[in-house]
Amino acid sequence: MENVVLAHNADEPLKAVLDGLQAAVYAADAKSGEILFANRAFQALHGFDTVGQVLNEQVVPLPERGDYRADPRGISTADVPCELFDGELLQPRTGRWYHIREQAVLWIDGRVVRLGIATDITDRQETAEIARQQEERIARTARLTTLGEMASMLAHEINQPLSAIANYCNGCVKRMQAGANAAELLPAIRKAAEQAERAGKIIARIRAFVKKSEPRRCAIPVAAILEEALALIEIDVRRRGIRLKIDVANNLPAVFADQIMIEQVLLNLVRNGLDAMKDAVGDERVLTVSAKAGGGRFVEISVMDRGCGISDENREKLFQPFFTTKDEGMGMGLAICRSIIEFHDGRLSVESPPAGGTLFTFTLPIEEAACE
Ligand code: ADP
Repeated sequence: MENVVLAHNADEPLKAVLDGLQAAVYAADAKSGEILFANRAFQALHGFDTVGQVLNEQVVPLPERGDYRADPRGISTADVPCELFDGELLQPRTGRWYHIREQAVLWIDGRVVRLGIATDITDRQETAEIARQQEERIARTARLTTLGEMASMLAHEINQPLSAIANYCNGCVKRMQAGANAAELLPAIRKAAEQAERAGKIIARIRAFVKKSEPRRCAIPVAAILEEALALIEIDVRRRGIRLKIDVANNLPAVFADQIMIEQVLLNLVRNGLDAMKDAVGDERVLTVSAKAGGGRFVEISVMDRGCGISDENREKLFQPFFTTKDEGMGMGLAICRSIIEFHDGRLSVESPPAGGTLFTFTLPIEEAACE
């Protein structure tokens, strides 16, 4: 739209072109907001008597609503042409979404006007929303599958505090029957209560992990994400005889992330690492999870195993949906991990360290804003 100058009475061919557009085109005095030109699509939306009126519809950017960085009412002729607005607005009356671009240009009589073009993008928005919801559903299904695979271990984990509680309670009963006083019973009852809390925490963790929720990004300490995710997989790690090394740099800033989604990524990467070390022996049975400051305003989190490694050929396909080399594999883990990290404006990459095994690294932006 650069350097466009529209005449009051746009000549016929130009008017025909503008009226033929599906997009709404308008020009309005930058100071007063008076509409000087409106094509047919704009008039169909706002009435055929809009020329001469003042722009006050919700569907156009408005200075009083703070839609511009710089108030167009203060723009001088020396500053034009310049871009005023490039964004999306909802028309509350019709519920439709518009992409709007507005520029300040010089009108035929020398004053500054806002020249805008508004394109209806409701269908595109709806498709994007459906795709987003589908992605969330797939991610949740994957979390349920992960938990399903871990169910027997989690049951075992919950069973431990439950049997401890039963033991403490039975002990108390016996002591009471033998005439013990309240003070003597107190330590055992306290321990039983602690164990009940432990079981409750495990259940809360599982429930939070599978909960269906809209992605919600917040300022989260990296250590909290690691702690929650690794608590879920710890028994699996122990059972497979793998040593887990956790290396978190001091004073890491909080990241701006959806905690559950990042836990899902970590869980996936750690489980893949464990699978890859199935045949590893001795010192090689170690999995390292580390977090440190990355370049720029990012934190870098990595998961390194000393397992079978990845061939050059497979590395190309790793992030493709349904790529798997496992008999029981679904091949969705890494594809979901990558889309989660990209949703967070981060990057997920893979390397083969010289010492063998595989190193997955992802970045997350550090927190700069409050919760979304
Ligand atoms: P799945 O685990 O269901 O196969 P993923 O998308 O998580 O799905 O992984 C895809 C494939 O990538 C795996 O089947 C495996 O071949 C390879 N892979 C992933 N992580 C590792 C790793 N740490 N070491 C070696 N190969 C890996």
